[in-house]
Amino acid sequence: MGVRIGVLDLQGDVSEHLLAFREALALAGRDRGSSVVPIRSADEIAGCDGLAIPGGESTTIARMVDRKGMRDPILEFSGGIFATCAGLILLSAAVEDDRRFLPLGILDATVCRNAFGRQRESFEQDLPLEGETEPFHAVFIRAPVITRAGTGVRILARLPQGIVAVAQGSHMGLAFHPELSRDRRLHLRFLKGLQG
Ligand code: GLN
Repeated sequence: MGVRIGVLDLQGDVSEHLLAFREALALAGRDRGSSVVPIRSADEIAGCDGLAIPGGESTTIARMVDRKGMRDPILEFSGGIFATCAGLILLSAAVEDDRRFLPLGILDATVCRNAFGRQRESFEQDLPLEGETEPFHAVFIRAPVITRAGTGVRILARLPQGIVAVAQGSHMGLAFHPELSRDRRLHLRFLKGLQG
């Protein structure tokens, strides 16, 4: 059966997410009957099986989510959410270094927005991934970390600074940018966890 993946198209690296999901669907042999589409209005959300929230600037994305009336449709969304970097910050329950920011509270986790400091704004790292023998080459850009993960949250990867990849039901929260790597294993895992 085909699936419909929406990529929240408000700000951030939307086109890379569209390409990465199209590639992953082809690799999974599920591209026939499936679609990967940019989401620009609130009424397009419910029709998706999966929703990607890209990296970018979390405060900007949050402001646009509210301005476009998308907060409730995302909270009511029954599919899986694939949240990367700024998207992970948005999906979390609390942001410990920015109290003014109101996250969605879908992921039972607390994040620290600017966890790596200025001198390490961007870096790449081979990351051991839960359930995989080969590490994942991950690209971090002004990345957050998860400082608290609730009991229903599965930890998929961590660095000395904190947790950087989690899953909760069909949702996935990643501090790095898997859409910027060649490796599609995390997209494939996410697709596997979706109904549809
Ligand atoms: N640090 C950024 C923020 O707070 C996220 C960076 C990213 O998405 N690459 O929104």
